[in-house]
Amino acid sequence: MELKDVLSEIHQEVAPLLGQGKVATYIPALANVDPMQFGMAITLNNGQQFGVGSYQTAFSIQSISKVFTYTLALRAYQDGLYKRVWREPSGNPFNSLVQLEYEAGIPRNPFINAGAIVVCDSLVSHFSSETKAFDKILSFIHECSGDSNITVDEVVAQSEMEHGYRNLALAGLMKSFGNFDNGIIEVLKTYFKHCSIVMNAQQLSRSMLYLANDGTDPISKKQLINSTQAKRINSLLLTCGHYDASGDFAFRVGLPGKSGVGGGIVAVVPGVMAIAVYSPALNESGNSLVGTKALELFTTKTGYSIF
Ligand code: GLN
Repeated sequence: MELKDVLSEIHQEVAPLLGQGKVATYIPALANVDPMQFGMAITLNNGQQFGVGSYQTAFSIQSISKVFTYTLALRAYQDGLYKRVWREPSGNPFNSLVQLEYEAGIPRNPFINAGAIVVCDSLVSHFSSETKAFDKILSFIHECSGDSNITVDEVVAQSEMEHGYRNLALAGLMKSFGNFDNGIIEVLKTYFKHCSIVMNAQQLSRSMLYLANDGTDPISKKQLINSTQAKRINSLLLTCGHYDASGDFAFRVGLPGKSGVGGGIVAVVPGVMAIAVYSPALNESGNSLVGTKALELFTTKTGYSIF
């Protein structure tokens, strides 16, 4: 079956599920998003793109941004980064504080909030200021996506800053353990800004092609990260990309992937393509409910799973 027909079939099959799940309300600026939306996009290695539904609707990428920041931090610090953020699944919700206390302020992985906040701290140090770090993160996303129009939703960033008490607690706890170099407010501002970057499914699928191709973007031919590092990022996406539902995502979908509470998920088919879905209503683990189902249908229908 042609990929565009696969997408249309999935669109029809998930339609009855829309309405299940809940949009994220702990970030007030995200609470009013229409939960009935669904979009899905694919970008192949040769640049060919397919999309269905709201695949050009922009949304808050939230934790998907952690893939870009981790890539930049690995590039800057290489193996030195593992002293500050580990590479094991957490088995806990994305914003949990408990494990961080008994593991002495070293987050389990870069895709839970604590890990991504430490990664952000490392980027603020590396690029010498919060403004420069954010500019580098945004320009890296422009480079990965080949689209320099991508920008940040300041209203969402401000809303996170005003209500992100758990993230403040995580940052404060890591600071108390000595795993934090800069001021917690300046780092959190940068973290909330990169979470509030706005992209659509089509742009997201395009931006992750480097991870499907050993770190080199097959369209621009630029090496964005080396192949060993790309392998490591993909393995963490598989084991940690969906927090305490990462095992379930691997079981059902079988691809490295990353979700965000804005309702997006990206997944990587090594050597072939990257896929992104958008549907803002979330399951209990904070992952797009219909998005996960759509990706499960995709790998079942096409056989494009890594297993
Ligand atoms: N910005 C969100 C937060 O820090 C990201 C969480 C997510 O997408 N899982 O809570």
